[in-house]
Amino acid sequence: MVVAAKTSQLQVGGIEVEIIRKDIKNLHLSVRPPDGRVRVSAPRNVDDEALRLALVSRLNWINKKQRMFQEAERQPEREMVSGESHYFRGRRYRLVVEEHDGSPCISAGGEFLHVGVRPGTDREGRVKAMNDWYRQHVKDEIPGLVGKWEPVMGVSVADWGVKRMKTRWGSCNVRARRIWLNSELAKKPPGCLEYVLVHEMAHLLERGHGDGFKSLMDRFLPSWRLRQAELESHPLSQEAW
Ligand SMILES: [Zn+2]
Repeated sequence: MVVAAKTSQLQVGGIEVEIIRKDIKNLHLSVRPPDGRVRVSAPRNVDDEALRLALVSRLNWINKKQRMFQEAERQPEREMVSGESHYFRGRRYRLVVEEHDGSPCISAGGEFLHVGVRPGTDREGRVKAMNDWYRQHVKDEIPGLVGKWEPVMGVSVADWGVKRMKTRWGSCNVRARRIWLNSELAKKPPGCLEYVLVHEMAHLLERGHGDGFKSLMDRFLPSWRLRQAELESHPLSQEAW
């Protein structure tokens, strides 16, 4: 007989932890996108107290994992030179850096991502031009998506913004009805951006990530698990793109 997994929440050391009880033998702890939440899969016979103890003993590990996210940012990055691979909307492009007079100009065509910058622009300047371009792309996508989902979900987004974030794909300030999206989503297949937006908008109806939240996601975006898996296949922590 197959019994459905049961989901609940625990607060441990100021961290919201999603608990999934199922027919397994060992505890499995993970930190997941889009917003770095902590999830534990646990055997059914382990009660909340025992779980709390197990989690407290692993708080160091959780903190270490979160520090790793941040340190990944400080690792040497791409040189931003011609020939490098860079991602846009889930596709890999080969970078072509060209010098020209005028403000930075970037476009994707065929298999190439053309980056035009002023002569002498250093690596930092080229990185900034790319990041600005990624952010603008997400900014351009949002109004259409918000307009599409507000009537479907019966919520209204008061304000939104796009910025580069190190550990989360999106966030939602429920009281202010303000949503932030990570500009790095421009590198992912377009369905991922839509998934993160719908996820954050669903928080306007349900705060946590419990069963109520999941059934909302199932109703509005039945393919959300697939899209989440796509995001997870290249975690934010691994700057491999
Ligand atoms: Zn969330």
